[in-house]
Amino acid sequence: MRIGVVNNQTEQSLKLIPKLRMLCLENNLILDNKRPDVVVSIGGDGTLLSAFHRYAHMLESVRFVGIHTGHLGFYTDWREYNLEELVDSLVNDNGESISYPLLDVEVNYTDEKESLRYLALNESAIKRVDGTLVCDVYIRDEYFERFRGDGMCVSTPTGSTGYNKSLGGAVLHPRLEALQLTEIASLNNRIFRTLSSPLVIAPDEWIRLKPKETDSFIMSLDQLTSNEENVEDIRFRIAKERIHFARYKHTHFWNRVEDAFIGAKNKNED
Ligand code: NAP
Repeated sequence: MRIGVVNNQTEQSLKLIPKLRMLCLENNLILDNKRPDVVVSIGGDGTLLSAFHRYAHMLESVRFVGIHTGHLGFYTDWREYNLEELVDSLVNDNGESISYPLLDVEVNYTDEKESLRYLALNESAIKRVDGTLVCDVYIRDEYFERFRGDGMCVSTPTGSTGYNKSLGGAVLHPRLEALQLTEIASLNNRIFRTLSSPLVIAPDEWIRLKPKETDSFIMSLDQLTSNEENVEDIRFRIAKERIHFARYKHTHFWNRVEDAFIGAKNKNED
């Protein structure tokens, strides 16, 4: 089995690299960042997002495993003290995996520029910081509303605990095939009106955002950002591709949510 490694630069993560190398060597696991079968991400959920973007062109053949060197994360099942156990699981791997939906983002331009297509694991957002973003929202190409505000965010079920949650979006179980649209500071008064609540679309639906032609804005894909102008529209749908995680260990989703956002200290003891 070929193992790829993606890590962040914290002291804790850097300490793990030689240990992991040694354990791989002892167990005949080949370290290969070019054509890995399993990518081990060492750091946090942000590191796993980087690993995903690095290997987004080979999602069919790659499975991911996350070691969290901080607290337990949403994409990370292992902690640094589980390293030996993880290597054992890699050695005894039976190919089992669990997969989650991804966001397909297609950007179409008003000028000659060719349309671009991206994948996101958590979400994609469009934002303006130097004025109001005005864009028309379509669901399945049916006009829904004209949005005015700071921006809009479309998230996957696994991304629902990220930026989406901070925007007041619901936490979705990752087994759901759905996308969620949340507003970022919408303008609502007697003249301008938006839904003003997050909405969740079905697997066969898509969201189309058509910004006012003159607007330039920032588009994010997980932790990546680009400046966009001359955009005709952006289409968001559930991607044909999925992300696969090697299933050696499984933490129940709602336990993760409780652990990340509530914590044992706040549990009602009655
Ligand atoms: P970052 O700004 O360095 O960290 C953002 C935080 O979000 C980190 O604590 C990260 O966890 C956590 N995170 C990432 N994905 C998550 C998920 N699916 N569920 C719950 N928490 C998650 O940026 P980054 O580490 O490169 O991650 C980019 C992501 O950060 C974006 O995709 C977006 O979801 C999130 N974000 C959130 C806000 C906000 O809530 N206001 C703003 C910008 C971005 P770790 O500490 O484990 O890495």
